[in-house]
Amino acid sequence: MISQDTLQKLIAIVGAKNAITDVHDMQAYMEERRDLWPGKSPLVLRPSCTNEVSQILALCHETGTAVVPQSGNTGLVGGQVPTGQEILLSLDRMTKIIEVDAADYTITVEAGVILKSVQTAADAVDRLFPLSLASEGSCRIGGNLSSNAGGLNVLAYGNARDLCLGLEVVLADGRIWNGLKKLRKDNTGYYLRDLFIGAEGTLGIITAAVLKLYPRPRRYDTAFIAVPSPQAAVDLLALVKAESGNRVVAFELMPQIGMDFTVKHMGVTHPIQTPSPWFVLTELADATADSFEQILELAMERGLVTDASLAQSEAQRQALWAIRELMPESQKHEGGSIKHDVSVPVSHIPKFIEEGAAAVQRFMPSARLMCFGHMGDGNMHFNVTQPVGMHKQEFLDQWHEMNWAVFDVVLKHGGSISAEHGIGQLKRDDMLKIKAPVELDMMRGLKALLDPKGILNPGKVLPSA
Ligand SMILES: Cc1cc2nc3c(=O)[nH]c(=O)nc-3n(C[C@H](O)[C@H](O)[C@H](O)COP(=O)(O)OP(=O)(O)OC[C@H]3O[C@@H](n4cnc5c(N)ncnc54)[C@H](O)[C@@H]3O)c2cc1C
Repeated sequence: MISQDTLQKLIAIVGAKNAITDVHDMQAYMEERRDLWPGKSPLVLRPSCTNEVSQILALCHETGTAVVPQSGNTGLVGGQVPTGQEILLSLDRMTKIIEVDAADYTITVEAGVILKSVQTAADAVDRLFPLSLASEGSCRIGGNLSSNAGGLNVLAYGNARDLCLGLEVVLADGRIWNGLKKLRKDNTGYYLRDLFIGAEGTLGIITAAVLKLYPRPRRYDTAFIAVPSPQAAVDLLALVKAESGNRVVAFELMPQIGMDFTVKHMGVTHPIQTPSPWFVLTELADATADSFEQILELAMERGLVTDASLAQSEAQRQALWAIRELMPESQKHEGGSIKHDVSVPVSHIPKFIEEGAAAVQRFMPSARLMCFGHMGDGNMHFNVTQPVGMHKQEFLDQWHEMNWAVFDVVLKHGGSISAEHGIGQLKRDDMLKIKAPVELDMMRGLKALLDPKGILNPGKVLPSA
């Protein structure tokens, strides 16, 4: 239990109007997208600056009060949700864009800046911030970095870790580490920055970051392509990369069933009339004018492509991307869905899909597999939709067993059971089963060093000590 005295002192740091104690008023911070982890907390604090975060942490450290950091609350593994006796620290008032430096290709922002706002600020100086996710209108940079977000352009620009140059972090005891450097080379000892990226708020609170910018592409070529098989998609990716001079910035694979759901429930029009078991949405940046069409002709000659629709305008490009971005939402209309955000080496994808589908079929013959995602990074959302007519809860009760039917195949192919969404509450116990003892020892050692009292997001990623 957090004492009334501690709660009052915490409220005094941010001021009463930036502290929420009423259960109804804090609802938006307690509900998450998947409706799997109902949140509960005695207090939500909304600090305005790093100094306030530092004071909050110092007091929490002194009193042994647990803290859950939250940025945009779009996380999909329950990491940002308090479970009862933690206070919730929201970064949603720390939204300053500190500096946009077009010459050094950097942008420095507070942790609560919404991803879309970073993209827009970069665009205003003719630069690109390439991190792009369907949740970009509400997720925030602190959450993107803490979950090492991936998204649509990882194969060209890397994930959040690759896009970060420097960090400012408040440590568990309230001390501030100012590592807001713009350097692309800095070999002065251990790379502390990387410890906090992907740590899901268990090692420190990220309060600001220096992010990398890129030249803004002058031209995009975007195509929706029918392919006969996942193997054809893998071969197509290799061909387009080689023939375009490595201009591919996105390469998404989608199945027929995903297209059926998205057309049926999300009001989109299928861009291709030819029936096909699989589709690819790919995009090239700054390719030479007619090279993409020539590459697609070559791919057709080789039997890798059966039909294609090329965006002729920005509006058409956006319409093609909307299909991909609405696909996860379409699943909700078909009932329960057991998700697997997994990765394998790209060349293993065809075998992984074949063997994973067989494993699902063995476990639940009438389940409907909907495997789609960032194929260019080897990251598939291997989601299983409930059988028609089955009760949703009866299906969801099989979550764990279904997971392991799929994870066994992932591990056989040298893959990861969490490609981009992280561990949070959802995969903590699964992670404990697959990490080597030496890896877990190092993780526990880092946690004990940086958060000796275990107050930072307890029970997420690692079990509470
Ligand atoms: C429609 C949709 C599409 C998505 N697509 C993708 C995708 O393509 N790729 C992808 O990687 N993810 C995706 N996600 C998941 C999610 O949007 C990302 O993980 C995002 O990066 C989380 O950011 P957030 O600000 O919402 O973080 P939150 O949900 O608030 O927090 C995420 C984690 O980070 C911790 N945290 C938050 N802020 C801080 C901080 N300042 N310091 C320390 N720890 C902190 C939290 O405690 C939690 O553990 C998607 C989610 C949705 C709803």
